Amino acid sequence: MIDVDDQLRTRVDGVWALGDVNGCGAFTHTSWNDYEVIAANVLDGESRSGDDRIMTYAVFVDPPFARVGMSEEEVRRAGRDALIATMPMSRVGRARERGKTDGFMKALVDARTQRILGTVI
Ligand SMILES: Cc1cc2nc3c(=O)[nH]c(=O)nc-3n(C[C@H](O)[C@H](O)[C@H](O)COP(=O)(O)OP(=O)(O)OC[C@H]3O[C@@H](n4cnc5c(N)ncnc54)[C@H](O)[C@@H]3O)c2cc1C
Repeated sequence: MIDVDDQLRTRVDGVWALGDVNGCGAFTHTSWNDYEVIAANVLDGESRSGDDRIMTYAVFVDPPFARVGMSEEEVRRAGRDALIATMPMSRVGRARERGKTDGFMKALVDARTQRILGTVI
């Protein structure tokens, strides 16, 4: 594991570490986002931070598993007042047509602002 700061800089000047090797995520999408953060900062003079990213991942298992934003546990731990809706895949037309009705989709929405906090599929 290579230690990096929030902009994914190593302790060596002019050297960045992205992907699994920096321990900031172990997913294809976090590795790609590492590249976006570094490219924006190095090539475009921005000051993006890896700490600001919204957690996003997909796990290629069967049934597949994906999440963006906060989980229900994180929402509850944060004491957020949330609206939570769950829909089983058995109610999704495309899933029924493909005979892949295991699992569900869940959306978590801030009850006050109506902003989406997280979604899991
Ligand atoms: C079994 C398995 C299942 C996974 N499932 C998922 C999943 O469902 N969803 C998901 O998002 N992620 C999954 N991952 C994780 C995902 O593959 C990694 O997070 C992602 O590939 C990390 O990208 P990376 O560029 O950091 O490293 P890598 O993709 O590992 O790329 C590193 C590259 O560097 C090369 N390399 C190593 N040493 C040297 C060297 N000395 N010189 C030159 N080249 C070198 C390697 O050959 C390799 O090509 C899975 C990983 C594994 C092992």
